[in-house]
Amino acid sequence: MIDVTLESVSKRFPRAGDTAAVDDVDLRIGAGEFFTLLGPSGCGKTTTLRMVAGFYFPSSGRIRFGAEDVTNRPPNKRDTGMVFQNYALFPHLSVAQNVAYGLKIRKVGRAESRRRIDEALGQVHLAGYGDRRIDQLSGGQQQRVALARALVIRPRTLLLDEPLSNLDAKLREETRVEIRRIQKESGTTALYVTHDQAEAMAMSDRIAVMESGRVRQVGTPQEIYHRPATAFVARFIGRSNVLDLPVVTVGPERVTVALPGGSEVPVAAPADHGLTAGATALVSVRPEHITLTSATDEGALTGRVTELEFTGMATNLLIDVAGEPVQVAAIDVPAGLGVGDQVGLSLPPERMWVVGA
Ligand code: ADP
Ligand code: MG
Repeated sequence: MIDVTLESVSKRFPRAGDTAAVDDVDLRIGAGEFFTLLGPSGCGKTTTLRMVAGFYFPSSGRIRFGAEDVTNRPPNKRDTGMVFQNYALFPHLSVAQNVAYGLKIRKVGRAESRRRIDEALGQVHLAGYGDRRIDQLSGGQQQRVALARALVIRPRTLLLDEPLSNLDAKLREETRVEIRRIQKESGTTALYVTHDQAEAMAMSDRIAVMESGRVRQVGTPQEIYHRPATAFVARFIGRSNVLDLPVVTVGPERVTVALPGGSEVPVAAPADHGLTAGATALVSVRPEHITLTSATDEGALTGRVTELEFTGMATNLLIDVAGEPVQVAAIDVPAGLGVGDQVGLSLPPERMWVVGA
């Protein structure tokens, strides 16, 4: 097991103008960790992964596997296993022949190859499938063959680029559990790329959220969900309201803000919030943490329902509070509540958090 370090890594493509596809990225992926790059399409995830694989070389910065500098080393000298969205299997070869590919290149002997192929197919729960043709397998099985092919060489790092995107929703959920299990059992350091925040949250030890070539936040799924660093992260991970609220007083790791109705509440803030009284704070609060109350309650924040959607598990509402749209996901709503009705909202200060712009 080794750790992977990216130090100030940038990538500029020729003819792509001045903007960097990957801009000054610092990351440390721990040995045996399942680490995910998460962000919208075009934010630089694949480019970052390809630099770790050796398919692209950085324009500047260093990449290390353990203490070894691999920055300018070609892919076949890095001991990485790659898994792609489209599987990239050889359709005319058998399952075993596909898995054998990396062993052939490495000139591993026959008996040893057979043993390792069986082991890899066992790891992905495809023991006995060696003689099947690829086109006789389902999409989920094909992706597990791709995983076995990556693992059979016993790579130092496993690199996966949106490997579940071609699977339907149910199979995607099953396969993400499988990939996580296989990674933990093999102990291989994994770098995983996805634009799907639910997938990232479910699978990862830690996540780096990327936007426009930059890493905006690194943390466990819980840290990123409960303590988003910026408004972008708050909105990209799950759903979030980001309210512009006037700051009344400030303290270390805490500021008091005024809610639209006028009441003042203390909310948690990062140590380096840099806010002063009279400034405006961006405050994140999740729709599922807001509860509905009666509009007539003393001191309640009130608003008018502008949208209401029943999803089974919860009712999603959009509520106009003094011109600001506030999303609420309520398990219980008053019987007969509809668009145009006045409601009260209760915002729990302990669930509110100051984010950066
Ligand atoms: P993601 O995987 O997050 O969707 P990419 O890493 O593929 O994003 O792309 C990041 C940015 O770099 C995009 O603006 C994309 O157009 C650009 N880019 C990616 N690969 C190349 C390339 N080979 N040549 C020029 N621009 C590229
Ligand atoms: Mg990509």
